[in-house]
Amino acid sequence: MKKDPRAAIFIDTTPRARLIILQKIHQGPRVSRAHPGRTGSSMAHIVIDRDRCKGCCFCIEFCPRNLIRVSREHNRIGYFPAEFIEEERERCTGCKTCAVMCPDTAIEVYK
Ligand code: SF4
Ligand code: SF4
Repeated sequence: MKKDPRAAIFIDTTPRARLIILQKIHQGPRVSRAHPGRTGSSMAHIVIDRDRCKGCCFCIEFCPRNLIRVSREHNRIGYFPAEFIEEERERCTGCKTCAVMCPDTAIEVYK
């Protein structure tokens, strides 16, 4: 039987976190095929809405490529939001794990 790759994200999570994960998987990530500012590159990348982010760090914890970090500047609502490491954007596979994990639907994935 084929193994569900998402099963790994349940390791070391609290019941509350598992509930959020299940809700997010059910809703599905926000994925777009064309970014308005796209320049023709075929690279996947993400866009984080920093004012929507509450700094829970789920996306940072679960990005398999460690491409997300905590911003040094707080956002409009006082949280230190997640930010995509633009310098390493070519390493993003567009796997959508970050968007699936985000409880605030603050991440969009572009492929
Ligand atoms: S799409 Fe995947 S590889 Fe890219 S930032 Fe999100 S979790 Fe990381
Ligand atoms: S999972 Fe969402 S709310 Fe949490 S730090 Fe990442 S972008 Fe912010």
